[in-house]
Amino acid sequence: MTRNSTPNTSTSTKNDVIISKKNTPVNNPNSNNNYLTQQSSAFSPTITTVSSSSAATPSSYNSYSQQQQFFAKLQATQSPTDSNNTTMHSSTTSRGHVHQPSLSIGPSPNNKFLLSDFTICRTLGTGSFGRVHLAQSKYNNKFYAMKVLKKSEVVRLKQVEHTNNEKHILEQVQHPFLVNLWGTFQDSTNLYMVMDYVVGGELFSILRKSQRFPDHVAKFYAAEVVLAFEYLHSKDIIYRDLKPENLLLDRNGHIKITDFGFAKYVPDITWTLCGTPDYLAPEIIQSKGYGKAVDWYSLGVLIFEMLAGYPPFYDEDHMRLYEKILSGRIKYPSSFDPIAKDLLKRLLTSDLSKRYGNLKAGSKDIKSHQWFKGIDWDKLIQRDVTAPYIPNFSGDGDTSNFDVYPEEREPYGKPSNDLYRDKFPSF
Ligand code: AMP
Repeated sequence: MTRNSTPNTSTSTKNDVIISKKNTPVNNPNSNNNYLTQQSSAFSPTITTVSSSSAATPSSYNSYSQQQQFFAKLQATQSPTDSNNTTMHSSTTSRGHVHQPSLSIGPSPNNKFLLSDFTICRTLGTGSFGRVHLAQSKYNNKFYAMKVLKKSEVVRLKQVEHTNNEKHILEQVQHPFLVNLWGTFQDSTNLYMVMDYVVGGELFSILRKSQRFPDHVAKFYAAEVVLAFEYLHSKDIIYRDLKPENLLLDRNGHIKITDFGFAKYVPDITWTLCGTPDYLAPEIIQSKGYGKAVDWYSLGVLIFEMLAGYPPFYDEDHMRLYEKILSGRIKYPSSFDPIAKDLLKRLLTSDLSKRYGNLKAGSKDIKSHQWFKGIDWDKLIQRDVTAPYIPNFSGDGDTSNFDVYPEEREPYGKPSNDLYRDKFPSF
């Protein structure tokens, strides 16, 4: 499967528009008005496209062996190991901070990183404000994912607070289903975040290849998200950007949530319009002031998208999309299990006094819903449950599960005027 990674190329063909769209976030830090009064430019996220896949399409999954066959086919469609990692050399930068000092990625006794401690390899993915590379430590030879954000872009796009939030929140969290941050540093041009490299690629790629997931597969991924959100919310952190692109699969097929660019410590309510259009809860669009319940709404969107292959609300025009989200009218495919539909109705409601996850029992209402019957939550958190799909990879630095991105860019670490260092004091 290929995915057009060039930003600002909107989807065009009528039939593949929903299944081929890669969601890209919107973010309007200045917004506190009703969405209908916004300038459309405030709602113009970049959209990248993927071509529709010719991979296996499960039409029914009546038996375990059918399910196994489906995933075997899926694995067969994966490309062989990418041996062409583009290597770019780095130069010296200022020292940065580490999250867990026990890691010997770098040479110094207190383990602060330099760009020159790493060999920067190919791009794994691009976000709205930067890109993520595979990187190899020159000290322990291990592979990491290095997120690189250009400071001038972060400032121009008014993402200073979000970027600092991302770092602080990732430092505070440790959970089996969240990506692990090892440390950060900066040079005069860029900010760098060093994370575990998650080798299995994006759930997005697998979903688009398979078009939709059978019930038990969607349930597995959704259950891991529930546990991750339960943990984040217990720390008063809302995530705000759930989508299959941000769910990576580790070597055993368990999820790792990445991209904490919109995560925020919110003990009560917040107002910023940010997230990915298809996944925005109605209260975000209405600029009402919102809280953790938006994550449970987005869980509903994710479950729907996994089961149907497309999100519950879709329109190429974002204003019309928001109107559809606010209308709340969802057409459920007839193939949906009525029990799944029941849970989705309870998550995708705009009525906060009814939305599961937001009631007195919190996430327990979701975990004890009949759709999750059979999930052993204690085993799941231990990753003691076999994942439905085990990624193919040939070694620690194998990038074959990631799409290929154009690599043209300025070399990192070139000296320049450092105009924005004071905006990122903790990097
Ligand atoms: P982000 O800018 O954080 O949204 O990341 C953009 C893309 O980079 C993601 O959608 C993934 O494809 C890839 N990516 C991010 N973090 C990691 C990671 N820790 N390991 C592997 N790939 C990653």
